Amino acid sequence: TPSIDIGPLSSSYAQLPSRFYTGLGPTPVARPGLIAVNRDLAQELGLSLGAVSEQDLAEVFSGNRLPQGSEPIAMAYAGHQFGHFVPQLGDGRAILLGEVVDGQGRRRDIQLKGAGRTPYSRGGDGRAALGPVLREYLVSEAMHAMGVPTTRALAAVTTGEAVLREEPLPGAVVTRVAASHIRVGTFQFFAARGDVEAVRQLTDYAIARHDPDLTDADNPPLAFLGRVMDRQAALIAQWMAFGFIHGVMNTDNCTVSGETIDYGPCAFMDAYNPQQVFSAIDRQGRYAFDNQPAIAQWNLARLADCLLPLIDSEEQRAIELAVECLEAFPARYEAHRLSNMRGKLGLRNAEAEDAGLIQDLHDLMHRERADFTLTFRSLSNAVAPGAGLDSLTQILGESPAAEDWMARWRDRVAREAAPAEETVALMRQVNPAYIPRNHQLERVIESAIGQQDFEPFHRLLAVVTHPYDERPEWESYLAPPSEEERVRNTFC
Ligand code: AMP
Ligand code: MG
Ligand code: MG
Repeated sequence: TPSIDIGPLSSSYAQLPSRFYTGLGPTPVARPGLIAVNRDLAQELGLSLGAVSEQDLAEVFSGNRLPQGSEPIAMAYAGHQFGHFVPQLGDGRAILLGEVVDGQGRRRDIQLKGAGRTPYSRGGDGRAALGPVLREYLVSEAMHAMGVPTTRALAAVTTGEAVLREEPLPGAVVTRVAASHIRVGTFQFFAARGDVEAVRQLTDYAIARHDPDLTDADNPPLAFLGRVMDRQAALIAQWMAFGFIHGVMNTDNCTVSGETIDYGPCAFMDAYNPQQVFSAIDRQGRYAFDNQPAIAQWNLARLADCLLPLIDSEEQRAIELAVECLEAFPARYEAHRLSNMRGKLGLRNAEAEDAGLIQDLHDLMHRERADFTLTFRSLSNAVAPGAGLDSLTQILGESPAAEDWMARWRDRVAREAAPAEETVALMRQVNPAYIPRNHQLERVIESAIGQQDFEPFHRLLAVVTHPYDERPEWESYLAPPSEEERVRNTFC
């Protein structure tokens, strides 16, 4: 079958040594059907989808026909899963079609997820079910709209085939766009084999792609470790500012680009609980909400392990340098977190008591099981000139502690130089009204599977890609779940 022209594809990763990947194409599906194509993203990537028919788009994004210029590969990687090292994972159901250089000169991967078996599939069928594909599309696009670094969703298609999970489910493919798919686990794949030459080539490639200015650094691998640390510190601080729980922070799901990747059993919290876990497979709570910064630091230490031979030929010296680098993580993370949280509270200047004010709010939210998103959105509203504290009081409770906190916070905001209108506007740009809540995602997925009705998907997509833009017709999307609607577990 002839390929389809969607724009200029390149394949720099496929030029790396053959042990970095396996060259193979997607496995065709029975009856591809287009669910969604992200035209804004396509434009940002410089793809020309305008002249491609819907049927051909479905053919390309299902893997039935390759885009012109594609050199498809499955990437090799390893990873620590829940703390246990697995020397070989790899793209077991994903195929990298190639890369594009976007309008800003950034190289971006285009990958099909759910595209069939590969040599890395081990037990799995290589496919993806419709539910997880819709989840990934909605949550990754919502994260992007909120301003969180993330892989993007370019398209979703149904396959016309069933995938066997506990029960047969409709199959689908999501097209994922990433700054790269290089993970901590990619480094581990080679380091675990004692293949220092490959670790060196991978590091050079990653630096050229993500941190080209480090090529001339005194110690490029060490400087690269520092950069990855900075990006992860900033990323996790954003997750914490939105109540996002990734759910599977394995080292194979930790990118060196600093993008959120792998939307499996992830979730936004409704009621605030620092120890919240949704993932059904996370029985020990390793990836609970409040553990996320410490886990990120642990993952970075696994990257450091791999880079040691490149950092210094003398192992003790290499360890000293890596430890010194990673010891900066907690302070770096905390600086990002404080800055995010100050913004959410309407504060631009830094005062010594801010950390305490933020902690006390979290304590109140925890005690009241306050809805995370609504709490911060209500703070924005409470600052508006002439606004009262009624809705905030409803959320935080009528206790003396809540009254005391609101008084302290209002005094603190009053010490800011900015006029109230400006503060409100700024707060509304960082405190989303709409997040993809679990119960809404489940409703969308039920309609898609049960009635082949994708309207709820498109409606929710429109809402969560405008997270700060409160509209009367979207009122029902503001509400936390009722007790019956509450989702307790999410699945991979
Ligand atoms: P994940 O946590 O989804 O990234 O998956 C971890 C590993 O299992 C990766 O190597 C995946 O490629 C592989 N995997 C997950 N689901 C499947 C599947 N349905 N078929 C084949 N491999 C899979
Ligand atoms: Mg993964
Ligand atoms: Mg996954």
